[in-house]
Amino acid sequence: MRHRKIVYISIFALATISLILAGIIRYGKSQELKVIFLDVGQGDAILISQGSSQILIDGGPDGQVLMEKLGRYVPFWDREIEMVVATHPDQDHIEGLLEVMKNYKIDALVEGTEQSESQLYKNYENLIAQKQIQKIEAEAGLKIKLDRAEIEILNPPAEAPAGTVKDTNMYSIVARLVFGQNSFLFTGDLPDTEEKKLLQKNVDLSAQVLKVAHHGSKYATTGEFLDKVKPDVAIISVGRNNRFGHPADEALGRLKERKINIFRTDEKGDVIYECLNPDVRCQMAVN
Ligand SMILES: [Zn+2]
Repeated sequence: MRHRKIVYISIFALATISLILAGIIRYGKSQELKVIFLDVGQGDAILISQGSSQILIDGGPDGQVLMEKLGRYVPFWDREIEMVVATHPDQDHIEGLLEVMKNYKIDALVEGTEQSESQLYKNYENLIAQKQIQKIEAEAGLKIKLDRAEIEILNPPAEAPAGTVKDTNMYSIVARLVFGQNSFLFTGDLPDTEEKKLLQKNVDLSAQVLKVAHHGSKYATTGEFLDKVKPDVAIISVGRNNRFGHPADEALGRLKERKINIFRTDEKGDVIYECLNPDVRCQMAVN
């Protein structure tokens, strides 16, 4: 009797192991690209994944919320996030990253040259040093390859000053992801003055999906900028009943005038793009 019980348990354990292995192989082979705008409250966090590789752009304002979201979209056996991009050192973009650094192995961190004087930023920098995470300085022109997808950094410019600046939003990392005929533009909290400078440079800003800058603040997302990007969809990453009044009616008005479809994380939750291959349009779903 005792013997039979052991056999049963062993068979069960074996079945579990093979299921896990099947999962790993399936994920390893999957070339599907996913871009997920995570609903993390008042802040930004965007997960880009392909197979078992992940790039996380910003971490939102709350580590527990972000860990719960990553648990949903990163396979449980994958404890590595290949790259983190911190668009700028404001709390609503980096606070959640501390918990990620404690719980995942991060291979590289892309950040701008600007720093913050906040205690949070000091803790964040200490943790990066402690975990010996490789830092890559973001500068316009830098390209990041993820299998058949490519991300190009468009801001900050090479001449951006290093150190602490008054307005950290100014040097937000702006990145454009291209996967065949699909394109996404991530703008951090970039203000209108810097949108203008980007427009003066002759760079390709076109994208079907625009992550609206600064949670829909009225001081960003100008008409001229939208006319250059020409998005079909605008994603606004924003918290319910936030104290900033984001998104502003002015920014919403400029999007609506141009008949751009608006998806807000406070209303829709996570906004998920699944891109099967570079030759077909990505499918969108909300969760
Ligand atoms: Zn922000």
